[in-house]
Amino acid sequence: MTPERVIKNPDLIRVAFAGTPPAGRKLSSLAAEAAFRLTVKEQQGTCAYQEWKGALSPHDVMCANKHLCSPRPSVLQRRQGLCSQCIRTPSDVFYVVRNPYTQIVKFGITSGNGSDRLNTHKRDGFTEIVYIHKNFSRARQLEDTMKILLRNCGFQPIRGHEYFRDNALPFIRSILPVQGVFL
Ligand SMILES: [Zn+2]
Repeated sequence: MTPERVIKNPDLIRVAFAGTPPAGRKLSSLAAEAAFRLTVKEQQGTCAYQEWKGALSPHDVMCANKHLCSPRPSVLQRRQGLCSQCIRTPSDVFYVVRNPYTQIVKFGITSGNGSDRLNTHKRDGFTEIVYIHKNFSRARQLEDTMKILLRNCGFQPIRGHEYFRDNALPFIRSILPVQGVFL
């Protein structure tokens, strides 16, 4: 997400600030903060800073793996990862989770035993673990391949690049390596 896109679609400001953007700020400043907040959310992080200090200053954020990190919004916008600790730790877990109410499946990668990431998804309603493959050095390649194959086979993500309707699940299952655990 970029400030330019937010300015073109000002509804995103309300989305980013959950209804009430701070008063008395210029549109450019609000758009910069909104873009940052939306990018953090896209990467499954949580904002932990008190006050916006401009796009060039570091801002405290909790990443999806619960590391406290301080990305600079201007740098994050150029598609660097949210958290320097996560960038240094190679992803070696591939998982598929499902929300039984919305009937949406999501796949993704993380590192270690994956429990922090899976608990974050659980709180978002993704309570069913469909598949988990730990100590899997090709987790990132599988994620990339999965996205490409789904797209090539006509499955459209309903959010981001890795959230799909249930009807994609048989296809996803058919690609998963048998070495992982199917639950
Ligand atoms: Zn991290």
